[in-house]
Amino acid sequence: MPTTAEEKINDHKRLGRELDLFVFSDLVGSGLPLWTPKGTLLRDTLDDFVWQLRKQYGYQKVEIPHITKRDLYETSGHWDKFQDDLFKITTREGDLFALKPMNCPHHTQIYARKLWSYRELPQRYANSTMCYRDEQTGELNGLARTRAFTQDDAHVFCRETEVKEEFLKIWEIVETFYKTFGFHLKIRLSFRDPKQPEKFLGDQARWQSAENILREITRDKGAETVDGIGEAAFYGPKLDFMAKDNLGREWQVATIQLDMNMPERFDLTCVNEKGEKERIVMIHAAIMGSIERFLSVLIEHYGGSFPVWLAPVQVIVLPIGEKHRNFAEKVAYLFQENNIRAELNADNEPLGKRVRSGKTQKIPYLLVIGDKEVETQSVSMEHRDTGSLGTQTLSKSLEIIQKAIADKS
Ligand SMILES: [Zn+2]
Repeated sequence: MPTTAEEKINDHKRLGRELDLFVFSDLVGSGLPLWTPKGTLLRDTLDDFVWQLRKQYGYQKVEIPHITKRDLYETSGHWDKFQDDLFKITTREGDLFALKPMNCPHHTQIYARKLWSYRELPQRYANSTMCYRDEQTGELNGLARTRAFTQDDAHVFCRETEVKEEFLKIWEIVETFYKTFGFHLKIRLSFRDPKQPEKFLGDQARWQSAENILREITRDKGAETVDGIGEAAFYGPKLDFMAKDNLGREWQVATIQLDMNMPERFDLTCVNEKGEKERIVMIHAAIMGSIERFLSVLIEHYGGSFPVWLAPVQVIVLPIGEKHRNFAEKVAYLFQENNIRAELNADNEPLGKRVRSGKTQKIPYLLVIGDKEVETQSVSMEHRDTGSLGTQTLSKSLEIIQKAIADKS
């Protein structure tokens, strides 16, 4: 719930409506956001950024169905722990299925398709896909708490000896990603509560060794950490990244989780140097976590004024009068041809009103075209936040915007 005046102004539900990013429908149901073309563009841009970072570290994309037989979750242990949170489906033949609340159990079955040599490990599977949890209506809150959400999920299947290196790679991705938005990161070591062993699956000695590895990694990194006793996932300890936003609020964002449990339950192995079967481990590595929840934070962090690389509309071209329209159309087309999201607003309204409308929509660049601009084949350029950028030739204005997009500034 918003508390300060600034939070109210930046409320993501209001901004989402005003900027036409997402809607809720009574017919579809609460907690089930629907994404408009602009909102979808924003989601895809973020997701693609994560993918570009992952690709450099050898991740491969996989895809899975959104439902499964209950057998999968009985094996994983989710049926026991989370069955009240699952959306259940009974088939016409009377079999019980569930909508997936997470992707890990499905991904284990992709790994399990063959017997792997240790030389082929790590296997790194990335998959941005929607998950479903039957949250109580009273707890739903815009994009921050939904019944359907998209995880930018990834799982690494590797040997215990490879854990440290894989964690550090994911950490690099997390750092690069969050730095781009100016978030300051803090790390929470989310461990089991030894006083409540019933809440955490598996052997206590394995937990201890997993927790030791995580602590060692943060020490090597020289990272600022806090302890989160009892904050572990039920299958293993995790590193949770906490980000501080522009309003000084702290959010839990990315998480890297070490899982020695699910490989046990699904009997996941590789063949080691001695030709023996060796138990592997699994790392869960979401960067945004839930894209919906991340966007609820990001929209408020920026107050809706997205940097140009993220803005659904990057440039608005505004001809002063009818006689400037032809050239303005050419300018908008030139930008579109260069993969810039440019729109033309030649509505029969005073220029001042159209400039204000562009600013209300928080479009980063406004290009005004009058007599002088038509004559010199140029544009009068203005930035939403920093004001006038003067008169620029077409190629110069294109260059300025392309550079800002490439720099993610
Ligand atoms: Zn997972």
